[in-house]
Amino acid sequence: MLDLSLIEKEYQKLGFIEELRFFQKEAIKRLFECAQSTRPRSLLVRLPTGYGKTLIGEALLAYESIAGDWSIARGLTYVLPTRAITHDVRIRLEKHFCNIGIKDIKELHGESDTSDFYADVSVATFDTFICAYARKTFDYHLEKPAGVIATSYLVFDEAHMLQDKYLYSHNLMSKILASCSEAGVPILVMTATMPKQFEETIFESVEKESVPDNIYDFKESVKSYRGLIERVDIKKDMKLLEYVKSSEFKNELKQKRRVLIVANTVERAAEAYKKLQSDQELANWEIVLIHSRLRLDDRNHREKLVRRLMQPQIKCDCNTNHEDSLPLYLDGDKIICKNCATKKLREVSGIIIVATQTVEAGLDVSCELLITECAPADALIQRAGRCSRRPNEENGECVIVQPVDEKPYPKILVQNSWNYLLNELKSEEERAIHLTSLVHSYEFINKAYKGFEVKRIPEISELSITLRYLEAIYPFVVDHSAISKVKARPSAPIFLFAPLKDEKIPVLIGLLKEKKQRYILEKRVLELTAHELVAKARELNEENKSLFVDKNTVRKRLFTIEKAYLSIKKEPCNILLFDLNRTEKVVAKLNYTRITMQDTSIEEKAQYYRINLHRLKEAKIEEGTYMLNPDFYDEKCGLVRVK
Ligand SMILES: [Zn+2]
Repeated sequence: MLDLSLIEKEYQKLGFIEELRFFQKEAIKRLFECAQSTRPRSLLVRLPTGYGKTLIGEALLAYESIAGDWSIARGLTYVLPTRAITHDVRIRLEKHFCNIGIKDIKELHGESDTSDFYADVSVATFDTFICAYARKTFDYHLEKPAGVIATSYLVFDEAHMLQDKYLYSHNLMSKILASCSEAGVPILVMTATMPKQFEETIFESVEKESVPDNIYDFKESVKSYRGLIERVDIKKDMKLLEYVKSSEFKNELKQKRRVLIVANTVERAAEAYKKLQSDQELANWEIVLIHSRLRLDDRNHREKLVRRLMQPQIKCDCNTNHEDSLPLYLDGDKIICKNCATKKLREVSGIIIVATQTVEAGLDVSCELLITECAPADALIQRAGRCSRRPNEENGECVIVQPVDEKPYPKILVQNSWNYLLNELKSEEERAIHLTSLVHSYEFINKAYKGFEVKRIPEISELSITLRYLEAIYPFVVDHSAISKVKARPSAPIFLFAPLKDEKIPVLIGLLKEKKQRYILEKRVLELTAHELVAKARELNEENKSLFVDKNTVRKRLFTIEKAYLSIKKEPCNILLFDLNRTEKVVAKLNYTRITMQDTSIEEKAQYYRINLHRLKEAKIEEGTYMLNPDFYDEKCGLVRVK
């Protein structure tokens, strides 16, 4: 029998919670029942942002550890849609788990070492999870990930964020739910804003339970799990770039010091950012641009800063327990409160984040003023989740401006959402409640998705091969050809290694050992810019030598784009092209390669990328890692499509 008070008391003692909320208890109890049932059932938990869903996901393992009863699962596999949020959740879980004796927690995503899918708690991106589940691994231990998954319980969190025109990811999940629950693996799916259609696809072939049983059973007041949004203003005939120049916006900035601006495209976010940056009146404001086409290190650095500054109470870096609110002072990366600012420091009167939908993914910030382009209802609700986020905040304000067009969303979703906001929700209170309460936002989302048609998955594509393969996945039978075609998303991700224009990259020269197909690396390190690197690689090619870049050097400067971004007129888009002597255009692909160090002659694990040059004509852009031509990357704005 589950004794919930065991977790509650332990977590209170450790200072993690005051008490478990009603629906947290309900969900944990139900998960426990589902897990112990002889008839396989999966559990859907639909609760608002800020309610504390991660705690529900971790509770079963926490309980087992505290009670010393490991009869349900050996571990936890926690699956999330993006790398950034995987990182955040891993940190949060670690903080709780390391106090109750669970130490082996791993983060698994495209930029971590994913060959070893083994831990007590594996926090994985959806893509990495799919590959591990389907045995698409670079390791020899094909069955290890499947074994880890089969002996854990499985949590899909923020599941609403997986979206594509075929509902392909939802179909994948449906297959996985079917075979895992048949095998007795307890499964929990959690969301705040998943449209009904998506839910139906995911749970198509399994028996499902829900918490709350009926969404109308959820009667808790908005104020108990988040702050209040006081006003929602709709700007008909006003586009984002006009709004950020308007006197109305400037007036708002007299009262609001924490502002979040969300554009639907990277290009528009970058334009708005440039406008604000060059505005003299905002000289004392910290303005930060965040989107998905920034190098990993740059993005991490910016996110770290805004996570600290975009809060009602901000911790001072003076080693006391000072807390203050904006305006504050910055001393390099240090935040200094008004009390501690003795010498002359740079004053920050306020902060403006200019972002794309990437902030919908769990960036834990709270603004006073949210300005957003109209987007599908579920996206708007997630964005509003970053406004007045803390339960004691009261004066949140949203401004929704007319979008330039519907891109990148399906037209009908943006149109339905805009029309509903404009024509059906007459008062500011009504709009605010539809962006914040669970029940009303569920209604808003389903209005937006009314008439939304899902595209059929092409019959003979890799997508349908993957689905068929997952449906028939057998132990002991390894279908290598199907495995090689496994795809986690409809569009293949392309990893871009993005050195800055004048940045010197450390590289090593390697000589191919003919018989063994291995490279021996020289010890000497060269420092080359991206353009020099390509020229050098071309020169070395003649001598059977190659250039190698260290894994960490690459990963710090990495980000992903969708393959579709490159396919303009079916040629590799020029962002990947390097011009050699004006006659030869090449693409630089980076391949993981087995190497031998010259001095030790010990084979090391593949820790290096080999630079492979391909001529434009023969270059077919497939999944993989490529070097971005640095002429297209701006240190501040990232990769922005040149018109
Ligand atoms: Zn201080």
